[in-house]
Amino acid sequence: PVRDRVGVGPRADVRMLEALLETYEPICLALVDYEKARLFLSQLGRVEEVRDLADEVPGRHDQGGWSQMRMQRHVDDHRTQHLKHVADALFALWRDRGFAHLVLAGPGEAHRELEGLLHEYLRQRVRAHLSLPMTASLEEIRTRALEIEEGLEREQEAQVVGHLEEAIASGRGVAGLEETLGALSEGRVGTLVVGLDLAQPGGVCDGCGRLGVKASACPTCGGPMREVPDVVEVAVAAAYERGCEVETVTADERLERLGGIGALLRF
Ligand SMILES: [Zn+2]
Repeated sequence: PVRDRVGVGPRADVRMLEALLETYEPICLALVDYEKARLFLSQLGRVEEVRDLADEVPGRHDQGGWSQMRMQRHVDDHRTQHLKHVADALFALWRDRGFAHLVLAGPGEAHRELEGLLHEYLRQRVRAHLSLPMTASLEEIRTRALEIEEGLEREQEAQVVGHLEEAIASGRGVAGLEETLGALSEGRVGTLVVGLDLAQPGGVCDGCGRLGVKASACPTCGGPMREVPDVVEVAVAAAYERGCEVETVTADERLERLGGIGALLRF
């Protein structure tokens, strides 16, 4: 079944798609002050304003007879109620739509106070606080969300490469194209770690499915191997078909030093 994919569609499209999905995990941005809130969901570079809330403090203008202290308490109660209201709306949104990351933003300190009122599940997802005006445009929100998503993705990639280095050091990982193709053909790969831009010609054995860096005699069954323009792409497709995890890394010097590809082994 692997060979059916060879030469179909533009090169590296499986990896491009995978990298996109990795990079654009849904992110929620909550823009809040003490009276209003705008909730956004950002995914695949698209931003949607999903909810607007307003809890205006009533009586601010017609309670002239109130003492300053009483007025302030009245305002504080309303602010807290509003932020709790926002926290509830965020929890409902998370339950309905799901998001991996939460960014809290606003013009003042309300977004910092909001964090303390969030459900624990949501507090664990807070990735950043941003200073933004309540009137921020969708385009501004999109730009800031993208910056954060890319930062998160770089962090995650660095972690993956770190795991790969540890696995190699302890004999549970392989590096380089030839070693990785060998491990993949033997069904030993748990997670394939591959650079987005890596491409190299190689060979596929139509008899047993073995992949190699050269289209010579198959090292597994001795049959002839067919030349393919990019064996990395074939390897990625094969990894998916075998149920391996595939981690695409955009640009990482440490992965390049390992030959641009490697794998964490199952055994
Ligand atoms: Zn073979």
